[in-house]
Amino acid sequence: MIHTDMQKLIRKSVRDFAQKEVAPLAAQIDETGEFPDELYQKLAKNNYFGITIPKEYGGTGAGYVVMCIVMEELARVCVSTTLHITSPNTLLGLPLANYGTPEQKKRYLLPEMRGEKEGTFALTEPGAGSDAASMKTTAVRDGDYYILNGRKTFITAAPVADFVVVFAVTDRSKGTRGITAFLVERGTPGFSTGKKERKMGVCGSPTSDVILDRVRVHKSQILGKEGEGFLMAMKTLDSGRIVVAAQCLGIAQSAMDEAVKYVKERQQFGRAIGNFQGIQFMLSDMETKINCARALIYDTAQKKDLGMNITKEAAMAKYFASEMCNDVAAKALQLHGGYGYMKDYPIERIFRNARVTTIYEGTSQIQQIVIAKQLLK
Ligand SMILES: Cc1cc2nc3c(=O)[nH]c(=O)nc-3n(C[C@H](O)[C@H](O)[C@H](O)COP(=O)(O)OP(=O)(O)OC[C@H]3O[C@@H](n4cnc5c(N)ncnc54)[C@H](O)[C@@H]3O)c2cc1C
Repeated sequence: MIHTDMQKLIRKSVRDFAQKEVAPLAAQIDETGEFPDELYQKLAKNNYFGITIPKEYGGTGAGYVVMCIVMEELARVCVSTTLHITSPNTLLGLPLANYGTPEQKKRYLLPEMRGEKEGTFALTEPGAGSDAASMKTTAVRDGDYYILNGRKTFITAAPVADFVVVFAVTDRSKGTRGITAFLVERGTPGFSTGKKERKMGVCGSPTSDVILDRVRVHKSQILGKEGEGFLMAMKTLDSGRIVVAAQCLGIAQSAMDEAVKYVKERQQFGRAIGNFQGIQFMLSDMETKINCARALIYDTAQKKDLGMNITKEAAMAKYFASEMCNDVAAKALQLHGGYGYMKDYPIERIFRNARVTTIYEGTSQIQQIVIAKQLLK
């Protein structure tokens, strides 16, 4: 798509912010695994937490094209930073904006938008990943309360979260219509989080288990209606996928930028390696795939902003962009030779950060299943 003048201005302002405030910290965030609170507050101040969230709930309501621009530009310099803005804009923010009561919005969504509280979305379990509906976590009614028992795994931001949207089975006999979402606050007796995972990439985004041991929550903490949780999770993931695809685009673009810079500088056989046709073929292939992804992503984002159903398109964008960014990052590393394997060059971090994108928010195989289901329905 051709961006409007306003969208171009937004891109420029995000790029300036990314270069000035984020890029100088990216290597340190990756190395230490610590995400500076000062940077988190700057993301909130710039309204990056509420791009997809309507104004009346504390967001800017700027929509998905703008969201993709912000993701792409930030992912070019620091992928961990983008994980901090995906949750308020999609996995956590959307269920609260679409299903939350006025009290829940006031207590959770508005402070999340302002960077005062951080929440997270806990669907995955040790035995239930792609097959999320086979979850074991239960919520059993006890008067006006529910008693939650179970364990969620690989939950982004869990170690620092103030509250968690937990999906639990309230009526096993109803299958996916027997799953309910609950808002559970840290500090509730029986709630705890596991050890911070040691990961290959996105190290500045803490991940851990969420443990629920006879956690008693009032029925007012149900998000949406009883039995509505699974549909809520699937609808949320539909929107989330387009945002992850934009993250992949930013990662691939940064790999490309590093590769072009390097092949112009590196001399072998008496000339810059970029002069060899074999290398030019690789670069052309990378550039073409990046631009295919870009077209698909912004087309899908525009459709979403127009209120169209994007289930198939978002799955295609996430599938194509995540596989593409792994391919481009691997080729960019290859073009760096042995230097690409050393931590002194940014491509080493870019390559590690790319890896998770074909796994989270639905693996590539699950995206293929979603696409085929839409084709064959
Ligand atoms: C860094 C990180 C952050 C995450 N953050 C969150 C979070 O905040 N909240 C949350 O709820 N979850 C989160 N997850 C979990 C993530 O969504 C799951 O890891 C993902 O859905 C895959 O589940 P799994 O790891 O159990 O793999 P599995 O489902 O066990 O899959 C293993 C392999 O089998 C394949 N497979 C499975 N079923 C099929 C099939 N039917 N056909 C073909 N192939 C199949 C998969 O594609 C994969 O290759 C996160 C994961 C990571 C790594």
